[in-house]
Amino acid sequence: MKLGQRYPLLGLPFALMALVNGISTEELEENRGRGLRLLSISSGEEPTWKTNGEKWDMMKAHVHFFDITDSYDPENEDTHFYSGLIAPLSTVTYPSGPVHQRDVKAIIDSLSTNNLQNYLSELTSFNNRFFMSETGRQASQWIFDTISNIALLNPSANASVTLFEHNFTQPSVIATIPGRISSSPVVILGAHMDSINLQAIGQDGAPPATGPSSTESILTDGTIMASATVQARQIATPISAPPAEYGPTHQPTLEEALEILINAPAPGADDDGSGSVDLIETFRALVVAGFRPSTTVEFHWYAGEEGGLLGSQDIANNYRKDQRQVRAMMQLDMTAYVRPGTPPVVAFIPDFVELSLNTFLSTLVDEYLSIGWVTSSACGYACSDHASWTSLGYPSAFPFESPFNLSNRYLHTPNDTTELDGFSFEHMLEYAKLGVAYAIELAVDPSDTITGTQTSGNSASSKNFGLSISRLLGLGVVVWTMIL
Ligand SMILES: [Zn+2]
Repeated sequence: MKLGQRYPLLGLPFALMALVNGISTEELEENRGRGLRLLSISSGEEPTWKTNGEKWDMMKAHVHFFDITDSYDPENEDTHFYSGLIAPLSTVTYPSGPVHQRDVKAIIDSLSTNNLQNYLSELTSFNNRFFMSETGRQASQWIFDTISNIALLNPSANASVTLFEHNFTQPSVIATIPGRISSSPVVILGAHMDSINLQAIGQDGAPPATGPSSTESILTDGTIMASATVQARQIATPISAPPAEYGPTHQPTLEEALEILINAPAPGADDDGSGSVDLIETFRALVVAGFRPSTTVEFHWYAGEEGGLLGSQDIANNYRKDQRQVRAMMQLDMTAYVRPGTPPVVAFIPDFVELSLNTFLSTLVDEYLSIGWVTSSACGYACSDHASWTSLGYPSAFPFESPFNLSNRYLHTPNDTTELDGFSFEHMLEYAKLGVAYAIELAVDPSDTITGTQTSGNSASSKNFGLSISRLLGLGVVVWTMIL
């Protein structure tokens, strides 16, 4: 990643980091004890303390932020600033285009809108998937059980799944399809499992359309970041005194608000049931096909995205602390809605992402999807879980359901259901196709097939060769990298 080129206006903050960083352990403990939350609201700026009530108000006003209260570590600078300025662990380059057409197309053909419907029907049957509610925990357990069953029924992929616990009620879920070259950087697909009903605590009406109106302006290096920062500041202005249009006169107390959020129905069919279910179906199709990638592929269902990217931050911090290499992270958050009267497209979010990954993904859309792609307007700071990875120097991308200004306006309300005019399982399926293509094209070496056999030679000998390698691997003799 070439940060200097991507964010030329933000070269300066590198020099300023030493000046602005520094919340002491004492201040942290005191403010945590008082129930305050430490939020990073815009890029390159110091995080600030807010009350929980102020945090809910910001959420109602559609202000995105990282809640870094629990992840902030005075001893670890990586956890202090969420500005996309942390140096990457390694430089990543992407293929110029797809090479595994036969394998990808075969698996794409096995994807099913019926499966998407069934999974989403289960996931939306929980009253909500709020990260502090018991039903939020149950939804996480349902994803874990569903993935576990798929893995057990299809043992050839050797897939596994774990719950990643946080210091709130809902755990994240991580599924792993191990690569044969265990030291290679991991390829990650992400979505957030949690949902929230902000209308219940006073969010009124549809979110304001945000972001620059012209795509051209955000495609200029440096302008992207400047726009997003300005946008965050503009939206952040009314936080201390929310304008009337954001809620009724009566503001619930903090305790009331939490109780309401724990109990309010939040189906979250599009946000982000759609992306979560795309990941389940992508995982299923790959595992059923006996996927044995060259490098490890992981599926992350994040908890607590709506609370300030809590689950993804926790996990990304963990990876960075362990110096784990990540080849790419692709977030699917809202993949189902097509504004009636507009053409269905994949819209690549252009800010706080790795643009070369967007370019690579666009070649996959061209090759494998039934729809085209566009570059969206900016999504802004801390927009979804990919930002947790970007902030820690990992390359991420965020292909979205539509250009930002045409996206689903009923998110965070009880009306985020499959009944909404414009909700499309066919559109969702396109993102599962993208998930399959992304996993195979990035995690399988060009000379391999998806089950780990070489593509050269006649089919009989390559099959035998693959079997013997499988046996070697079974014995723990990992010499495959040397052979290739
Ligand atoms: Zn979302």
